[in-house]
Amino acid sequence: MNPRRWAAGVAVPLLGVALVHGGPALTARGPLRRAMPRLSGQGQPGGVALTFDDGPDPAGTPAVLDALARLGWTATFFLLGSQVDRYPEVARSIVAAGHEVGVHGYEHHNHLTRSSSWARRDLGRACGQIAAVTGSRPRWFRPPYGVLSAGSLRAAAQLDVTPVLWTAWGRDWEGRPADHVLGHLLRSLDDGGTVLLHDSDCTSRPGAWRSAVEVLPALATELERRGLAVRPLRSHLARSG
Ligand SMILES: [Zn+2]
Repeated sequence: MNPRRWAAGVAVPLLGVALVHGGPALTARGPLRRAMPRLSGQGQPGGVALTFDDGPDPAGTPAVLDALARLGWTATFFLLGSQVDRYPEVARSIVAAGHEVGVHGYEHHNHLTRSSSWARRDLGRACGQIAAVTGSRPRWFRPPYGVLSAGSLRAAAQLDVTPVLWTAWGRDWEGRPADHVLGHLLRSLDDGGTVLLHDSDCTSRPGAWRSAVEVLPALATELERRGLAVRPLRSHLARSG
């Protein structure tokens, strides 16, 4: 995801509410987080959810999996169906390592630029394919660029996948050094938040996934200092009581 592509998602007609999509404020701290905390990824206190988009990737995903194994963390990976087609073994390795898979779509398109029937086909194709290849049916859906249309919301409901965005991002797709990525993350990372990183550079600067890998140890130090655990969305967004 690069800024120009991000800017392509300008207005988000969401459940009848028009939200201006000008950057991380919408999903990090803006009205969405207060009005729709589950959609924004605000979960149980005491930890954060760690999520990776745009994979699987033959270089980035194994590097991220190795880093997560060293830290003893379990994360959620939002897979692109087109990437699963190219790298099915990499997709399977995510589940084999105990991580959770969600669906990011088959193609990486802004849903506001596509029809409702396109969204239904794209999401249905990706869900079926991820389940067939990995043996794990996606429970969560994150649209490309975090942009939801009325059609994508309907498709998600029909396919029984729950839309989840994020509350903190590192802009790791820019391929900047890890301290830069950490600085972005810490600006919006709070107890109960959801972190967005990428294990693939298929929509961003070549090799940008290295930024996500390199930031993880520093993120671990900061989370330990705050007494926050790391967990996948299945436990982060589990309803209590
Ligand atoms: Zn993406």
